[in-house]
Amino acid sequence: MPERIYNFSPGPATLPQEVLAQAGRDIVNYNNTGMSLIELSHRSKDFMAVAEETESLLRELLNVPDNYKVLFLQGGASTQFAMIPMNLLGNGKSATYLNTGTWAKKAIKEANIIAGADVAYSSEDSSFNHVPAQDDYTVAPDSEYVYFVSNNTIYGTQFKQFPQSEKMLVCDMSSDILSREIDIKPFGLIFAGAQKNMGPAGATVVIIRDDLLDCTPDSVPTMFRYKTHADKGSMFNTPPCFAIYVIGLVLKWLKNTGGVAEIEKINREKAALLYQAIDQTDFFKGHAREDSRSMMNITFNLPTPELESKLVADALEAGFSGLKGHRSIGGLRASIYNAFPRQGVVDLVEFMAEFERKNG
Ligand SMILES: *Cc1c(COP(=O)(O)O)cnc(C)c1O
Repeated sequence: MPERIYNFSPGPATLPQEVLAQAGRDIVNYNNTGMSLIELSHRSKDFMAVAEETESLLRELLNVPDNYKVLFLQGGASTQFAMIPMNLLGNGKSATYLNTGTWAKKAIKEANIIAGADVAYSSEDSSFNHVPAQDDYTVAPDSEYVYFVSNNTIYGTQFKQFPQSEKMLVCDMSSDILSREIDIKPFGLIFAGAQKNMGPAGATVVIIRDDLLDCTPDSVPTMFRYKTHADKGSMFNTPPCFAIYVIGLVLKWLKNTGGVAEIEKINREKAALLYQAIDQTDFFKGHAREDSRSMMNITFNLPTPELESKLVADALEAGFSGLKGHRSIGGLRASIYNAFPRQGVVDLVEFMAEFERKNG
């Protein structure tokens, strides 16, 4: 087996090594059943127990109030861009959207297919290098909800404070769910693809306030109605069994690490190490405005694109993978989600200093 390297990939992203080891064992023989975990019927006692435990850990770690349902759906986070307006914007209703990057734009496009998206703010003119402050936009009085992306994976920006509004919030938390403590109550709906901060690709978590389950127009087909999945505990049809199981392992790992409050401290520390390294020299330049910097995806540039390519190549050779920035902004991006080890950040910082000495 080759030695494990540091994987800075934005998603699917690095997972705790002990989770991978456990999944490896269970994929051959789950809990001495003589069957693989991926051979278990989703209606079997064994798998039902896995699903129940995963949901209850998520509820516990995120402090999800009783009047919210937790769903495990397929179709990726991107399907939610359409499912949200399909379910919540019937009969000519509209909603307010904050355009802070690629994922917000895609959600706005889908909302406009189905209903009306009122884009109250956009940071596109400044290459999405920041998120808005509270008084940078107004929410239209007839809006059903305020939609935003809590962490902009591609640009490396993050809301430190969530929007304050009388309207309910709807949030794409794909790349920072479980990374910091949050209060669920202002939200009507939160969703997150698992593959950034929770587990493997294949499952999308939706946390939805239960009174919203009844406002879906009759014209919406069965599989696209939240109520369909809520009524059947995400087992209306075959759920993404493997992904749900691995999410459960990741949540156990997170609980053993000390839960969300503890991982938030660690995440702050890791991000601070990298931002310090970027700030202490003119050789590196952060993409995100300081007030909007993400703890999860750290985006930065070097003096030239050639140096950026060289850093990516040299880093790979030194055992740091996945540092190339997204094609839409170039540069570098270090994704350091919950499961990314602190030592990997320490080592990268050292590598960057050495790279500057040689090439600066
Ligand atoms: C990755 C990502 C998505 C897209 O997720 P898919 O599961 O591939 O559809 C959406 N939103 C954010 C914030 C992301 O980081």
